[in-house]
Amino acid sequence: MSTEQGKHKAELLDGALLADEIKLEVSGQIAEMRQRYGTVPTLAAVQVGDDPASEVYVRNKIRACEAVGIRSEHHALAAVTSTSELLALVQSLNTREEIDGILVQLPLPSQIDESAVIEAVDPAKDVDGFHPINVGRLAMGHPGLVPCTPAGIIELLDRYQVQISGANACVVGRSQIVGRPVAQLLLQRDATVTICHSKTRDLPGVTRQADILIVAIGRAGFVGREHIKPGATLIDVGMNRLSAEDDVRRFFGSEAERRLQVLEKRGYTLIGDVNPAEAIEVAGRFSPVPGGVGLLTVAMLMRNTLKAAQLRRALDQ
Ligand code: NDP
Repeated sequence: MSTEQGKHKAELLDGALLADEIKLEVSGQIAEMRQRYGTVPTLAAVQVGDDPASEVYVRNKIRACEAVGIRSEHHALAAVTSTSELLALVQSLNTREEIDGILVQLPLPSQIDESAVIEAVDPAKDVDGFHPINVGRLAMGHPGLVPCTPAGIIELLDRYQVQISGANACVVGRSQIVGRPVAQLLLQRDATVTICHSKTRDLPGVTRQADILIVAIGRAGFVGREHIKPGATLIDVGMNRLSAEDDVRRFFGSEAERRLQVLEKRGYTLIGDVNPAEAIEVAGRFSPVPGGVGLLTVAMLMRNTLKAAQLRRALDQ
């Protein structure tokens, strides 16, 4: 936390720096694995259709594999792929001994039964942690493969020495990939956890009780001054695109000019679920978008792939 001309400014939690540290740790462990056992983990990334956001995500994951020394395979299937065709691919990846991790990029086209695909992935290779067996293990507080974004959020809190035990933690959003699993992880770490959603009454009144506030709702700049307890640690998970100049000026305050240049270049600029200018003035620590948990998700996927390989092949960790 710092002040500039007497104005409070939250300490920014640097997800990019932490993501680099995690990838460095993982690449060191992979080099050791290669030396001791003559093998490295392999990740199979499955993409269906040509959704531009999914393409960027898969490309980033494959690049990260190359950077840390994980072998990767990219399976790109046509948008018209059926559930049974995709299930057949997943089954073949399940049975291939050299594959340690299987990642099916979501969302899938509407004709595909997403739950059937998630449930078809071998839980031991489920590096996204979405299989009901891994979800159940997490709910029971047992070790297993944990979803990447929630695991990254806990890493971020730990690296910045945010006290979780005993803290009032509030998670806004109850999705399977972020809200619910991060709430479970916070509970495991002895936080007092409240989960909010679209039917929550008096949302600001609830979120203002939180020492740790995590927001994953998919609503641009929704959480503002009135939601934040002064001095709280605030983690913004949202990834939204802003394409109107007025919105950019409204949300970004002194940073608006730089963001307008991004808008002109790309046609949009990224914003989370939190109003960044207000968050910086009220929170004690703030993980912004971009530069916060987004990059950690990929780093945690690398760590999960290594962990899956170590567990499945019964190697020393
Ligand atoms: P979902 O769209 O699956 O769920 C949104 C949740 O937010 C729901 O639980 C919904 O409540 C709740 N919600 C929506 N509007 C409100 C509101 N006005 N007040 C309170 N709660 C509300 O979200 P995801 O978890 O998949 O994604 C959330 C955001 O995080 C998105 O912007 C997404 O892009 C981003 N994301 C970022 C990742 C990263 O790596 N950084 C990874 C994954 C997601 P209800 O259940 O009642 O409908």
